Amino acid sequence: LEVIRGVEPRVADAIAAELTDQREMLKLIASENYASPAVLLAMGNWLSDKYAEGTVGRRFYAGCRNVDTVEALAAEHARNVFGAAHAYAQPHSGIDANLVAFWAVLSQRVETPGLARAGVRQVNDLTEQDWAQLRAEFGNQRMLGMSLDAGGHLTHGFRPNISGKMFDQRSYGTDPQTGLLDYEALRATAREFRPLIIVAGYSAYPRLVNFRIMREIADEVGATLMVDMAHFAGLVAGKVLTGDFDPVPHANIVTTTTHKSLRGPRGGMVLCDDALAEHVDRGCPMVLGGPLPHVMAAKAVALAEAARPEFGSYAQAVVDNARALAEGLLTRGAKLVTGGTDNHLVLIDVSGYGLTGRQAEAALLDSGIVTNRNSVPQDPNGAWYTSGIRIGTPALTTRGLGAAEMDEIAGLIDTVLSGTTAAAAPKGGLSKAHHVLDAAVADQVAKRASDL
Ligand code: PLP
Repeated sequence: LEVIRGVEPRVADAIAAELTDQREMLKLIASENYASPAVLLAMGNWLSDKYAEGTVGRRFYAGCRNVDTVEALAAEHARNVFGAAHAYAQPHSGIDANLVAFWAVLSQRVETPGLARAGVRQVNDLTEQDWAQLRAEFGNQRMLGMSLDAGGHLTHGFRPNISGKMFDQRSYGTDPQTGLLDYEALRATAREFRPLIIVAGYSAYPRLVNFRIMREIADEVGATLMVDMAHFAGLVAGKVLTGDFDPVPHANIVTTTTHKSLRGPRGGMVLCDDALAEHVDRGCPMVLGGPLPHVMAAKAVALAEAARPEFGSYAQAVVDNARALAEGLLTRGAKLVTGGTDNHLVLIDVSGYGLTGRQAEAALLDSGIVTNRNSVPQDPNGAWYTSGIRIGTPALTTRGLGAAEMDEIAGLIDTVLSGTTAAAAPKGGLSKAHHVLDAAVADQVAKRASDL
C-alpha cells in the first residue's frame, strides 16, 4: 500500500477502507466471496503486462509462452474440476462469457450447414453471397430464458443488455403459488416458440434446477441448452450439485463467473462439448479483446483450490448455512420466496415487513449488513425499488461462520427490518426509497456484526 500511496494516496486509502468494510461488515451479497491470498497474488503481477490475442499455441503476438502456460493450466483445471470436454478461460467477466457462448452457438448453427452446402471446410472460404443467404436463413434468432423477476439474469435476453437486442426473447417463469420452476409450462412455451437457445441458470432463484429435464426440452424443440452457472459454480465444483442438478453433463454449453461461489478472481469462463469447442475458442477476437493473463493465472490457482477435498466441505457448508439462515428467518416470521432454499441464497420478501427492497437494503447497510435488493416474482415495485432482499452465504462461510452464527444473523436481520419504517420523501408522501431506523438499533446491530 505504501508504494501506491506514493503515487496516488486516495487510491491507497480506498483500498484500506475497503479492507476495513469487508472485515467489519457482514458480507451477505450472494454473488460475493473472499478470494484466497494465492488467488489475489496470482493477479497482482507482471503477467498483467502481456498481450496474447489468440489461443494457446496460436497467438497473434510473440513471447507468449508463459501466458500459454497459465491459460492451459486454467483450462486443464476447469476440465478436471467440472468434468467438461472443453474449457475456455479467457472471458473477462460473466457477461463476456455469455456473449462468447451466444456467438459460438450462432456461428455453429450458421456455419455448419452453410459450410457443408458450400462444400468448404473453412469459414473464411464463404463468399459474401453465402453469408447473405445464411443470414436470411438463420437471422432473427430466438432465445428462451428465465424471467428477471423469477431470478434470471439481464444477459438472458433482456432489453438493457445486448442479448435482448441480438435475440427475439421470450421468458419462462415460476409457478405463482409455489415460486418453483414450472417445467411443463416451459416445455409448452418452447414447443410453441421454438428457440435456438434455451438458457437455464439464475441470479436469484433459491432452489435447484433439473438440467436433465431442461436438456430433454431443448432436444425436443431442436434448441441448444446453455446453462449460466455463474452463481452456483462453486456448488458444482464442490460436488454438492450432482446428477440431474449438475449442468455440465446435460448442457451443450455452460458459462460461469469465477468470482462468486467458486471463490476465484473476477472473471468468466466457458465450458462446452467438442462440437462447440472451435467456435468458443474464437471468443477473442470475435467479442473479446486481448486476454487478461494475470486473471487467467488466478483462475488456474482458484480451480486448483477447488479441486481439493476441503473445497467440497466448504461448498456443503455454504448450503448448510443458507438453510440455517432461512430457518432462522422463517422462525422469526419472515416471508421467503419458495419458503426456503436448496442452494447458497435466500430471497426475503420484505413486503412482509411493510418495506420495499430499497428501504430494507439501506436499513441493513446502516446496521453493518451488506445485502442487495432484488425483485421477487411478479414484483409490484419493479426492478428499481423491488420487494425483496437477496442474501447468500458463500462469503461468510469462507470466513468460517457456521449454523449458530447464521441463526444469530437471521435475528439481527429481523431486528433491523422489524425496526424500520417507510419515511417521507423530500417532496412529501411516503417514499419507496426512504426509511427510518432508530440509530441505537443500527449501532447495536452494527457492533455485533463487526464482532462476528
Ligand atoms: N450471469 C449470472 C447468472 C450472474 O448472476 C451474473 C452476475 O451477476 C453474470 C452472469 C454477469 O457476471 P459479470 O458481472 O462478471 O459480468
